[in-house]
Amino acid sequence: MNQQKNTKQGILVKMNIVLLGSPGVGKGTYAKRISGIYGIPQISTGDMFREAIKNKTEIGLKAKEYIDKGELVPDDVTIGIVEERLKKDDCKNGFMLDGFPRTIAQAEALDKIVVIDKVLDFTASEKIIIDRLSGRRICKSCGAIYHIRNIIPKVKGVCDKCGGEVYQRNDDKPEAVKKRLDVYTKQTAPLIGYYKEKKLLADIGADKPIEQVDEIIADVRKALEE
Ligand code: AMP
Repeated sequence: MNQQKNTKQGILVKMNIVLLGSPGVGKGTYAKRISGIYGIPQISTGDMFREAIKNKTEIGLKAKEYIDKGELVPDDVTIGIVEERLKKDDCKNGFMLDGFPRTIAQAEALDKIVVIDKVLDFTASEKIIIDRLSGRRICKSCGAIYHIRNIIPKVKGVCDKCGGEVYQRNDDKPEAVKKRLDVYTKQTAPLIGYYKEKKLLADIGADKPIEQVDEIIADVRKALEE
């Protein structure tokens, strides 16, 4: 087991973490909080692809075709960028993968690179998921997450944190959302069984509204520190 003393909290925790859960369940929001509490990096493949698209890199141009349609970027491209990212120094004391793995092939490749200590599976009803996805807005510069009804920037269209442009992702529009949920059910949901079998899975109910995010984070801490 890759257990380490977390000096920030003085608590024994399991540090190589995977976050599972449907698009729109709130993984990015929880990941930012957990990352702050434990001092480990949030590694979001979606954010990495969006950054690559913004910078018009070769990977970005390739990924964009798939992302805009709500499809998965091919495994070889995705596994390659995660493998490179995990070699960085800031992953030494642990990391949190947000949006990877998304296929059994990615999970198997990950098992060859590192030991995973805990998988948090966030669940919410379909109604809540669709509301979160269709109302979500994000900052083009820093990735901060907003929502048209309950996380509204102080100035319309402007990020509170960095002043960047707040926009709706192409893949949060209705057609792509439908496709992404379908892709999740077919390709990513089987990972629940994969990690359950390895006895790494912890279920975290995420139906609560954003005002109660502290309660969800408390459940996460319980699962990680037990
Ligand atoms: P996310 O921000 O995690 O919802 O990811 C946005 C999009 O990036 C997904 O709908 C996929 O097209 C692509 N993507 C992110 N992570 C992966 C992954 N692990 N495998 C394949 N495609 C991914």
